[in-house]
Amino acid sequence: MSRIVKNPLDENHVIISTYRKKRPFQQKELRCPFCVGSDEVTESFNKAISLPNKYPSLSMDYEHAKGICEVILYSDNHTKTLTDHSSEFIESVIRHWISRIKEIEKNTDLEYIFIFENYGKKIGVSLEHPHGQIYSFPFIPKTILEKYRSFEDTCVYCDETILIHENSTFNISTVEFAKWPFELHIYPKNHIHSLAQLNEREIKDLALCLQLAFQSLYSKFGKNTPYILGIYQTYIKDHSDIFHLHIELISPMITKDRFKFRAGIETSLGIFINSVDPLEFSEEMRNIIKRFEK
Ligand SMILES: [Zn+2]
Ligand SMILES: [Zn+2]
Repeated sequence: MSRIVKNPLDENHVIISTYRKKRPFQQKELRCPFCVGSDEVTESFNKAISLPNKYPSLSMDYEHAKGICEVILYSDNHTKTLTDHSSEFIESVIRHWISRIKEIEKNTDLEYIFIFENYGKKIGVSLEHPHGQIYSFPFIPKTILEKYRSFEDTCVYCDETILIHENSTFNISTVEFAKWPFELHIYPKNHIHSLAQLNEREIKDLALCLQLAFQSLYSKFGKNTPYILGIYQTYIKDHSDIFHLHIELISPMITKDRFKFRAGIETSLGIFINSVDPLEFSEEMRNIIKRFEK
């Protein structure tokens, strides 16, 4: 069981979830729970599927921590990451995200849906088999409220990013205020607020941008580099056109073997010190992406 507590000092929420301590870290001798033959996966599959998280910190059954924690598997292949698949396959994953959003947002107790992926042991990922996740919360996370307020004034994605690559409907950029040594922002040119608003052309273009963004990450640091992919949409009950949908792909790697830790000033005050200049980073990314453009 869990409970949600709001910190009155900074208005962030904390989820107290002691049950998660039982969560296994995958050991070599144990079978992967996401490969065929496990309790959860009985047949071979080659399309995105959702499974309930076995150790959820939020659940519709919890009285004080209502929500949803879902695992998204891309395929039964234990080593193929999201963007090792074809762009057509990535499009089908985007359609899966959209169908899950439409289903989850019917639940009137929920306020926010976050789709994300953590990859890499260095950032604490317990299971090797590539998988994304969906969390849905009964509150609007403070970060989303802050982003929303900023969009009420001006839209950074319409006005102020550092462009790296564009196709007909999507951009890959970085920002002058990048916190991480590797930080890409992928967003539609059209100022829309959720994945569910994407048209067919935009789904195709997003898949191509995701592929290029990951190719540039792998090209810079190698294949098993840790990353976090986060999809930022507006909150469920907002029907205004204020928020601009965006996806952030970040990696804590500075070089292939140097890692940025979130130390005192980052953790205590949220002030990041980035040793990579986003202007130089954007130039480097432009050159890398050019090599992969078709
Ligand atoms: Zn596996
Ligand atoms: Zn915008």
